[in-house]
Amino acid sequence: MLQVVPVKQIHLDAYAPIVGAATVEELRELARPLNGLRVVHVNATAFGGGVAEILQTLVPLSVDVGLEATWQVIEGSDDFFNVTKAMHNGLQGMDIPFTPEMQRIWQEYNRRNAEKFEGTYDIVIVHDPQPAGLLHYTGGKHAPHWAWRCHIDTSEPNPVYWDFLAPYISEYEAGIFTLKEYVGPGVTFRHLAIIPPTIDPLSPKNADMPLEEAKAIVQKFGIDVNRPLLLQVSRFDPWKDPLGVIDCYRLVKKERPDVQLALVGSMASDDPEGWIYYDRTVRHAGEDFDIHILHNFHGVGSREVNAFQRVADVVIQKSLREGFGLVVAEAMWKGKPVVGGKVGGIPLQIVDGETGFLVESVEECADRALYLLQHPQEARRMGQAARERVRRHFLITRHLRDYLHLFRELTGL
Ligand code: UDP
Repeated sequence: MLQVVPVKQIHLDAYAPIVGAATVEELRELARPLNGLRVVHVNATAFGGGVAEILQTLVPLSVDVGLEATWQVIEGSDDFFNVTKAMHNGLQGMDIPFTPEMQRIWQEYNRRNAEKFEGTYDIVIVHDPQPAGLLHYTGGKHAPHWAWRCHIDTSEPNPVYWDFLAPYISEYEAGIFTLKEYVGPGVTFRHLAIIPPTIDPLSPKNADMPLEEAKAIVQKFGIDVNRPLLLQVSRFDPWKDPLGVIDCYRLVKKERPDVQLALVGSMASDDPEGWIYYDRTVRHAGEDFDIHILHNFHGVGSREVNAFQRVADVVIQKSLREGFGLVVAEAMWKGKPVVGGKVGGIPLQIVDGETGFLVESVEECADRALYLLQHPQEARRMGQAARERVRRHFLITRHLRDYLHLFRELTGL
């Protein structure tokens, strides 16, 4: 049997003060015909990264509205996750090899996980490329409906990777993508759903926290809360460009010598490359003690990320390629204007000049960050607009609604 991820109990009613009682009622209404529907989400990791973050809330909320929703993770070795990390990069267009041996490893682990997959469901939702072969290797016998949920941008994939994966994902009845533009070339689904990710406003990462408490937490990591702080929260990954963030900080520091930078990044269990890139980041930072590079092994968990996002003067997300960029919505929800790379799902969230800034270079990033540091009132106004934008478009209740619509479409209920 695949490992079942335990989830906490969550009540939809708790969201009424944030999204309104009418929205809660609408969701219950939408879910009524789906009562008892057996839905299982399958992905590669129970911890780290955006997918785990979403499932932690989406699954228990689905249960609260009457579905029999569960979450399972596949098993893999370092070998397998090295391959799937390469697939992640290759599918987003990186020019890297995909050897027959790598392909064999992916197939072998998908076959093994398929053998371990148990149970009977109405809908199976498989997330991302790691377990994408589950439908093929089980023959689909566990459920009448299968959906592949792709969290990455496969619009311009490395063809070697795409040609390999396309036959596996073409077997799925439904494809779920963050943006319409992300659907890779030549693949069509009978049902195509466009569902941008969302955040949970009540999770420990996003729930309200008094500023004083947040400052006390951040201070424990050696940050001087009386001096300006730039922040990026991201895995240590070339696409997140932590080295570019350091360069940006250095430009800002020329004008504001008191500025500090925190780079906070968790190590996901399916991301062995993370450590390598973490080392590179530390080397790039050198002996500058105003640069703080932290990860979950330092004790930076959800509450700490929450605190950092609240204390930071400017939040940066200088991605070069991005699926959605949940961290952008997280910071916006805390009333922060985000300076973000103009890639992937970031422009969906940041309205340039209104709820933050979109940038395409280190210089632009430094320029906007400095502007926000020097215009705190303007920064506050933009931050408030950012929070409202998230309330309207990027809270988990909207996500649940999109999934319920899809489930009704698939089942005809
Ligand atoms: N995250 C975290 N601790 C860290 C770094 C990241 O909890 O040190 C979380 C972050 O808050 C967000 C998720 O990991 O919820 C990252 O999602 P995003 O969509 O931004 O990027 P991904 O890692 O999925 O590419």
